[in-house]
Amino acid sequence: MTAPRVTLVGAGPGDPELLTLKAVRALRRATVVLVDDLVSAGVLRYVRPSARVIPVGKRGGCTSTPQAFIEKLMIAETLRGERVVRLKGGDPFVFGRGGEECAALRAAGIAVEVINGITAGIAAPAALGIPVTDRRFTQGVALVTGHGSEHEPDWDALARSGLTLVIYMGLARVPRLVEALSQGGLGANTPAAVISAAHTPQQRQALCTLATLTGTIAREQLASPAILVIGDVVQAAPMWAATLTVDVRRTG
Ligand code: SAH
Repeated sequence: MTAPRVTLVGAGPGDPELLTLKAVRALRRATVVLVDDLVSAGVLRYVRPSARVIPVGKRGGCTSTPQAFIEKLMIAETLRGERVVRLKGGDPFVFGRGGEECAALRAAGIAVEVINGITAGIAAPAALGIPVTDRRFTQGVALVTGHGSEHEPDWDALARSGLTLVIYMGLARVPRLVEALSQGGLGANTPAAVISAAHTPQQRQALCTLATLTGTIAREQLASPAILVIGDVVQAAPMWAATLTVDVRRTG
């Protein structure tokens, strides 16, 4: 018998064509698949019909499955001899609790293979033609959480960093984030983008500025899941020029 093992697979942002070949191969082999709610249905077409697919996300009417329960379930199924895949949206190691799950599995004597996925923070801006590290505008990118339940990122330092700010899970707290970044010295005219449900048929987006971000999200009714991009690289989006005219007209 081979050593017990779980495969942590990144499903990418939504479009099944953005899966890696390794991800597809792991899905085809799996007998049990634990799926997060941000994984799009199209990705599951690669799972064999006889496999058990267990949703463990918080949408779809259920409350979030407690993390400890997910970890116990993975361990139990693996020790029973199932080939377990833990399927997560985007990349398993970018705001996906992949690290915690690896630690729990390893503590139980189970090996973990990690198959990267394309993270929403890079893929969502790219869907609008925004290259997050374009050297004409910035020296790099910071991937940060806007969620606020744990430790807040150092918004002052980020505002001064000159880095492109890519904010995950931030939509519900946009007024607070804008305030914190403005206090840190980030200019009101700093370009910003919001991309909702990127790389899915429901994708919607808006370009604006730091000052108009809150109003734009409300007006366009942009919903979660969404990525916020703040920084000069947003100007590289082909639709930027047109947006700017509209925005200036609206605010001016
Ligand atoms: N591991 C995932 C992130 C999980 S945290 C990854 O690497 O992409 C969940 C957050 O990711 C959401 O609140 C949202 O900010 C972002 N997100 C995930 N999928 C998205 C998508 N298709 N479009 C826009 N944002 C998305």
